[in-house]
Amino acid sequence: MRKERVASFKKRLLEKQHQLLEEVGRSALYGKDQEDDSIKDLGDQANTAYTREFFFELGNGDRRLLRDVVLALQKIEDGSFGTCERCSEPIAEKRLDALPFARYCINCQRVVEEEERMATG
Ligand SMILES: [Zn+2]
Repeated sequence: MRKERVASFKKRLLEKQHQLLEEVGRSALYGKDQEDDSIKDLGDQANTAYTREFFFELGNGDRRLLRDVVLALQKIEDGSFGTCERCSEPIAEKRLDALPFARYCINCQRVVEEEERMATG
């Protein structure tokens, strides 16, 4: 992949990372920071635990996405960006345009998703 292409993907990934960090950071704050008055006002420990659980669930998808974005940025650094993690073939640039943090080519993505479905039942 051309350097300029990688640079533009990197820029988009950094923006996405920034956006996700803010979102995840916000939900983590609500989940963990018991100094927050609104949380304290909810009352006893049980309520606080419930609130923490609630925000953890809420942020789960973002957390996963954030992990993929960070992974993609690492791959840009080590030069493996744009390569499928499963079959080591290049990922179509059209796919990367839509999902710059994609870890697999379209074929492997299907297989991986199928495997995850099987694993979680
Ligand atoms: Zn693949």
